[in-house]
Amino acid sequence: MNLQETITKRFKEVFGTDGTLYASAGRINLIGEHTDYNGGFVFPGAIDKVIMAEIKPNGTDKCHVVSIDQNQEVEFGLNEADAPKEMWARYIFGVCRETIKRGGKVEGFDAVFAGNVPLGAGLSSSAALESCFAFALNDLFNDNSIDKFELARIGQSTEHNYCGVNCGIMDQFASVFGKKDHLMRLDCRSMEYEYFPFDPKGYKLVLVDSVVKHELVDSPYNKRRESCERVAKRLGMETLRDATMEDLNAIKGDITAEDYLRAKFVIGEKDRVLAVCDALEKGDYETVGKKMYETHEGLSKDYEVSCEELDFLNDLARREGVTGSRIMGGGFGGCTINLVADDRYDHFIKTAVKEFNDRYGHEPRIYDVVISDGARRV
Ligand code: ADP
Ligand code: MG
Repeated sequence: MNLQETITKRFKEVFGTDGTLYASAGRINLIGEHTDYNGGFVFPGAIDKVIMAEIKPNGTDKCHVVSIDQNQEVEFGLNEADAPKEMWARYIFGVCRETIKRGGKVEGFDAVFAGNVPLGAGLSSSAALESCFAFALNDLFNDNSIDKFELARIGQSTEHNYCGVNCGIMDQFASVFGKKDHLMRLDCRSMEYEYFPFDPKGYKLVLVDSVVKHELVDSPYNKRRESCERVAKRLGMETLRDATMEDLNAIKGDITAEDYLRAKFVIGEKDRVLAVCDALEKGDYETVGKKMYETHEGLSKDYEVSCEELDFLNDLARREGVTGSRIMGGGFGGCTINLVADDRYDHFIKTAVKEFNDRYGHEPRIYDVVISDGARRV
């Protein structure tokens, strides 16, 4: 049984009727890392891994939700005091609350949901879950009057206010706005976005998950952020968004070597996103791949957020003739994202699994992804 059949069968068993099906997607970010808080660009796309839910208003003020994957059923009311204890249910409760806080209507409903976005692998299963329900509540109770950006913000606020995750907007944006065969360049300063065609015929996108997460001491992310802010301030700018390498080199003697390297990465990364957009418009995936390697190099040597396992996977990708490869996400563990020519794919995966396992004692996980639609009624 596929996901949809499993969900509809269960809904019928539990609630004795049919509801409406909705889905939303996980996401990748092709390029544009650590740029969001520097007022730069990110370049995500939704993927063919989703959270799907069947939902039906039940005429009460209670929500009855079944999680197939967690094998749990939870009932909650819609007032602030009704927050469920189960983490997965808090995402749904949060979406209800954030919709209500914005003046939207939410009434009791029955729901069954399941998904195939790997949890905690950096593909944002939580954003898929939030976006699926935010889209559904907008359709079922609000005549789709809440605009899509607000749906993304409902998901983001859910993370902040109900799940203790202080995230940016990219994941929910990508999940809500995702479009088949397109990536989206989001300007994190103006919040303007643009679709770019991404249909890499002859290549595959594949994530190699190292399944390691290094415990971090002395909040290295905050330190990176502070470096960027110091350099921007020294340049008399609000963020590094408008800074050029010439600007940076002109003040090189006045800042620490470390701050210089951090800013160098951020400025380079902004230019790389723009270069990738140009390349995509020409269908030039070899240049896209080259920029991905440059990003990895910058994240590893200048921003210093890589780790041994990720550098190992990146070196291996180069040796295997993979077109592009880089760390995806904040760093210090997680996945690499790889753009691989079809005829290199099998050998690359086989070698990566074997050599990584030989060296680190466990196999990496492999996730093939295809750029697909975001939030929708199924
Ligand atoms: P990710 O990087 O995948 O977003 P998070 O830790 O932010 O990782 O979110 C994962 C959480 O989202 C899970 O612990 C669970 O509470 C919820 N979740 C995601 N997918 C599902 C699912 N298929 N069923 C139930 N809950 C899910
Ligand atoms: Mg998440």
